[in-house]
Amino acid sequence: MISTDEPVELGPAVRALDAARSVTILCHVQPDADTVGSGLALALVLRRRGIPVRVSFAEPAALAVSLRTLPGAELLVPPAEVPAEVDLLVTVDCGSAGRLGALGDRLAGAGTTLVIDHHRSNTRFGAINLIDPDAESTAGLVARVLDAWGEEIDAPVAHCLYAGLVTDTGSFRWVRPGTHGLAERLLGTGIDGAEISRGLLDTHPFGWLPMLASVLGSARLAPGVRGGIGLAYAFVRRTDLRGLGAEEVESVIDIVRTSAEAGIAAVFKEHRTVDGRWTVSLRSRNSGPGAADGVDVSAVATALGGGGHRFAAGYTAHGTADDILAALLAALE
Ligand code: 5GP
Ligand code: MN
Repeated sequence: MISTDEPVELGPAVRALDAARSVTILCHVQPDADTVGSGLALALVLRRRGIPVRVSFAEPAALAVSLRTLPGAELLVPPAEVPAEVDLLVTVDCGSAGRLGALGDRLAGAGTTLVIDHHRSNTRFGAINLIDPDAESTAGLVARVLDAWGEEIDAPVAHCLYAGLVTDTGSFRWVRPGTHGLAERLLGTGIDGAEISRGLLDTHPFGWLPMLASVLGSARLAPGVRGGIGLAYAFVRRTDLRGLGAEEVESVIDIVRTSAEAGIAAVFKEHRTVDGRWTVSLRSRNSGPGAADGVDVSAVATALGGGGHRFAAGYTAHGTADDILAALLAALE
């Protein structure tokens, strides 16, 4: 765990990037806009400097539809095209080596490794670790790296960074001093913030609506959890997923977590193909009454083999729906 008052030193990261002959950037599995936006922003700058660069993630095979229009997406390569030995390996938005999935083995073959991340549970698995748990997004941390490096944030880079910023702040709901200042700077490059947000957050196929009806219809409230803090939860089953993408699945937790009666929310998401495998999203209330002693779901997720942030975390679970619910309830005791 990183203490939040540890100063964040940008120098080693900047020097590693500046000295690199070629760079491989890895995003986390089930990549979201913060990991892909941060990775592509960095890749665009490196390409501009004439440095060979590739970006990859282990799974799933295809990038979420809403991320395919990010500038620099052509720099993404399939995991099989990431050689066993690379020069500088940079991971973005990954709290642990496990978040690299099958690409985790590339760490050993790298000349040097740079970890850029904002997860509280970060395990500091790089040779150079640029980790700021106070950063609202990894994209914001990348912006600081580019400033320290003296590299301009032009419109394509700003587009990628804005994508990470707007999604990791929940459309600027979870903000800190500096968040809006960065947004202002990025928008000042001429990018269309409204259009980027619409594509990332407000666009779903029609099938999203019946999926929500089914999933939310089976949501449950367990008011006694954690001494009365309460848990609201729902299951997204494989049969609910037909024809829908990651954006639709990931949207569910944002609705479940609005339940006023519960300080904790969970969504159990069944794997599309592997029987008995689920990914779990956890959230806890981070403002309002009682928030000062809000539940640290990062610690709960870490105990269950995952990790994350104090108020947003996740893990992978195995078993029946009843098994995994029981395991979470036990961890929340
Ligand atoms: P989400 O619910 O959006 O998938 O994840 C919430 C937060 O927890 C994200 O910041 C994500 O990086 C982290 N997280 C989700 N699943 C895992 C996991 O299996 N391992 C770790 N270390 N972090 C996770
Ligand atoms: Mn992030």
